[in-house]
Amino acid sequence: MNLINGKEVADSLKAVIAAQVNEMTAAGCRAPHLVAILVGDDGASQTYVGHKERMCTEVGFRSTVLRFEESVTQDFLLGEIEKLNNDAEVDGFIVQLPLPGHISEQRVIEAIDPRKDVDGFHPVNTGRMISGLPSYLPATPDGILELLKYYKIETVGKNCVVIGRSNIVGRPIANLLSQKGRDCTVTVCHSRTHNLSQTVAQADIVIAAIGIAEFVTADMVKPGAVVVDVGITRVPSEKTKSGWKLLGDVKFDEVAPKCSYITPVPGGVGPMTIISLMKNTLKAAKREIYK
Ligand code: NAD
Repeated sequence: MNLINGKEVADSLKAVIAAQVNEMTAAGCRAPHLVAILVGDDGASQTYVGHKERMCTEVGFRSTVLRFEESVTQDFLLGEIEKLNNDAEVDGFIVQLPLPGHISEQRVIEAIDPRKDVDGFHPVNTGRMISGLPSYLPATPDGILELLKYYKIETVGKNCVVIGRSNIVGRPIANLLSQKGRDCTVTVCHSRTHNLSQTVAQADIVIAAIGIAEFVTADMVKPGAVVVDVGITRVPSEKTKSGWKLLGDVKFDEVAPKCSYITPVPGGVGPMTIISLMKNTLKAAKREIYK
């Protein structure tokens, strides 16, 4: 069994991004600039945005966080988005989800100029991705592709089962793996799938993105399979100082010995997600996707 070390892969990509930023600034260009919009005081969202800010600094980007009260109106937020769309000093921006219930996430996502949509959630970027055109890829699926590439894991002709069909993970990774060049035969399982265990047991590559701790057990996994665990569930623990620990969607201890490769939680897919956002922001600053 080989453990996929997401931190190591993320660090190597981070060094490449930082070197490119150095080149840009040495040539007299300004550093890439990422803006994050944060609404309300959700603890997890604040932590994620904090990580993104720190990573920007580490790779040499300029970073701005716009914080708004939970009670901000949708119209006000759309106005702020329009300002960012028109601000030549901003290369890319994200709106940290989830948003409060009175704001339509879809309206907000669709208000972002696709050229600055570095989360890759705008339908224009989604459509381009599905068509195999250059686009900003959503961060978690892109991170999974980077892990497979780094470990030279063969995808061509392999059976891949994706568990979960969310817009940010399951659906895009299923599509990307089926595209020419990656050439997987992909099955998507979800909450209404019959015979899920038998389907997963056929997979050469399993991608679990459900959000149910330790859902995937050893009996569901074919010997020699590659298992990518996207899930993150916080559970109480008496063994940690904080009083909680993170579990993935895969019952790691019993599944790992059967696998050829497996991602741990934490330290697998997680560290890749922020790096992919940095990759997109650099692409935006270099006008690589949209000229
Ligand atoms: P989501 O919560 O939007 O959707 C969950 C999906 O799982 C749904 O498509 C649903 O059909 C499927 N599902 C639910 N119960 C199921 C069941 N019993 N059997 C089969 N399928 C079932 O999912 P998401 O936003 O993709 O998140 C999934 C997990 O990944 C969460 O734990 C989330 O925290 C984590 N996540 C991690 C990262 C990272 O960077 N590591 C990024 C995004 C999401």
